[in-house]
Amino acid sequence: MRVVNVWIEHPVMDLNRTFTYALKDGMNASRGVRVTVPLSSRFVTGFVDSVEENDLSLEEYSEKAGYEVRYVDKVIDEEPILNAELYELGLWMGHETVSPNIACFQSMLPSKMKPRSNRKASVQEYYVRLLDETKATSEKQKAAVEILKNGDVLRSELNKAFTGITAILERKGIAEVYSKEKEAGYSELDIREADYELTEQQKAAIKKINESDKDVILLHGLTGSGKTEVYMQLAAQKCREGRQVLILVPEISLTPQMVSRMVNRFGHSIAIYHSKLNDQQRYEQYQLVRNHQVSIVVGTRSAVFMPFDNLGLIVLDEEHDHSYKQDSSPRYHCRDVAIHRAQYHHCKVVLGSATPTLESYARAIKNVYELVELKNRIHQNLPSSHLVDMQSEMRKGNYIISSVLEKEIRKRLDNHQQSILLLNRRGYTTIMKCRKCGKVIQCPHCDIAMSYHKDENKLKCHTCGTEMSADMVCPDCGSNNWLHQGLGTQRLYETIQEKFPEARILRMDADTTRKKNGHQEILEAFEKGEADILLGTQMIAKGLDYPNVTLVGIFNADALLGRTDYRSVEVTFDLIVQASGRSGRGHSAGEVYIQAYDTHHYGIRLAARQDYKSFFQYEMEYRHVGDYPPYKYLAAISFNSRNEEKAKTMAWQRADEFRKNEQFKTLGPSQLARSFDEYKYRIVLKGANRDQLIEAVWNWYDSIQFNKQQVKIQIDIDPYVLD
Ligand code: ADP
Ligand code: ZN
Ligand code: ZN
Repeated sequence: MRVVNVWIEHPVMDLNRTFTYALKDGMNASRGVRVTVPLSSRFVTGFVDSVEENDLSLEEYSEKAGYEVRYVDKVIDEEPILNAELYELGLWMGHETVSPNIACFQSMLPSKMKPRSNRKASVQEYYVRLLDETKATSEKQKAAVEILKNGDVLRSELNKAFTGITAILERKGIAEVYSKEKEAGYSELDIREADYELTEQQKAAIKKINESDKDVILLHGLTGSGKTEVYMQLAAQKCREGRQVLILVPEISLTPQMVSRMVNRFGHSIAIYHSKLNDQQRYEQYQLVRNHQVSIVVGTRSAVFMPFDNLGLIVLDEEHDHSYKQDSSPRYHCRDVAIHRAQYHHCKVVLGSATPTLESYARAIKNVYELVELKNRIHQNLPSSHLVDMQSEMRKGNYIISSVLEKEIRKRLDNHQQSILLLNRRGYTTIMKCRKCGKVIQCPHCDIAMSYHKDENKLKCHTCGTEMSADMVCPDCGSNNWLHQGLGTQRLYETIQEKFPEARILRMDADTTRKKNGHQEILEAFEKGEADILLGTQMIAKGLDYPNVTLVGIFNADALLGRTDYRSVEVTFDLIVQASGRSGRGHSAGEVYIQAYDTHHYGIRLAARQDYKSFFQYEMEYRHVGDYPPYKYLAAISFNSRNEEKAKTMAWQRADEFRKNEQFKTLGPSQLARSFDEYKYRIVLKGANRDQLIEAVWNWYDSIQFNKQQVKIQIDIDPYVLD
């Protein structure tokens, strides 16, 4: 008898192990093939890990195993859906992120191919194949036969040429119809050249990258220094050598210009892969890569799992971006996966950024990565930046916009130039507070203040999405005298519009981009010059390249510094530098005004000067003193439950256990803000040896089999933020 060991997602238990099933006669399976198997009273889909042969009967085998071994219901794939490399990658990722292997396999495949039971069929195309030309009688049939002699034809095409012909050919036995999975695309290379000369700086960078003996390159280049062109040159080179290229970007809808530049350069040799595609589109892009119909993939995080078999280069643009870290299980970082795959394919990884993570820059300085720099902008010098002290502006009665920034916006309007205004907070105001008793309205499901949205007259929770009418009396004292505090994009929009009634303003935030193509419509309108001012949240800080923008204004630049998270200064620095980089990219010089309450903070001062290297040195000191990455490794484990007692008890028990291990420091548990009605307790492990941390977490995880419906456990190795 043959048995298979299968990874499945258990509906109730949180565990990572295979289940054993017997293969019926005639069933063929191998590693990486999907099967449907019975689990208690239902059927689930899983991945075959291994197949074993033995001389026992099913009864004997069951007796030996100590449980009733059941038969596989159905083998889904003839060929493994994950090839050997991707299968190993899933196992590796499971180990690195301490998550079930089945969760890894699931997140590696587009949902149409995920091992779930409710699988939709892929699109089929129907072709006509010639069987016996001698049976053709009419002129029409003979003409159709002539076409089929040159090869099989789509049924729809044939019927277009000769209405209703296919049915006749089939009936007479002249031809038959068969179905095939829809394929699209081309396989020959389609590469255009740049319509400008590369700068000396770009040439030198490409040469250094090509000649480096390091596997990972950190391309540290100012905003607007021509990094994208470097990626495209390297990509073209690899494609011509017959190898595949993967270019990872943070978020496609926010970087439409980058994508269209790539598409213009690489035509139909490129596939675009991102989360906004529907299932069928994703599946098709996946197949394009699998069938070698494209050489280049531009995509977001999950594109790192595309079925390449001959990768020649991986680029990770804006490598500091937090969207590269998945925030649900498996909590992998795209950069780690990229580097792991590159090792298998013997190719280089280029990490590009104007503001690299401290982790990557530290590795570059230590010569683990090759450091390649682009120190000058292509067209202009960096914009000149000005810090505006809002404490003193407030004394002058300017609460939202400073007099200098107001003057500069006026100037741009007069000169027909564009401005970008960044405020990283949506809504109208951030809190609604009772003037009589001081009560702040909080979300009933989360421990955070509700934001006031004036246009809908609603209060919204930005964590869980709960909404309620803003027409209410104070639940504590019955007063209806409310104070609206804090600044959101809606209110900023209103203020700017009042000051400049003639200005055409576009607002871009999660509220205005909710509908399909919302991002694209706003950005296109701005690009065409249909607006003078683009105002929005961090969505407008990345990647935009509009030559007519000569002013960037940043509001509440120091707002993020209030967070307790170890990375909050880095995140603030990145946001200011990236946003500043949108100014002065064309032929006119740019300016940036940064409004803050604490203008002496090193993160704000150095961001205004775009001084990454000094920032790196300062920030590394703090990380060193606080034992934070890149000096130490972190693992965070949270216990979430609607039952506070359960979460708390479990977290404390675990913390006490971990504390016995002296290889690392165990902090907490600390209670986090409740969200989605769940109470949260978190333990943080800090250690110098990452492998030891992972091993300790695995040892515990393997030893438990707990019910995930009572307490949810979230494990995050190398958490990006800890707020
Ligand atoms: P980055 O990716 O570093 O922000 P980009 O690659 O977007 O910079 O380049 C900034 C601008 O300069 C783009 O509009 C790009 O088309 C243009 N550009 C890039 N390289 C050159 C070059 N060698 N000559 C002229 N223009 C260039
Ligand atoms: Zn009150
Ligand atoms: Zn909420």
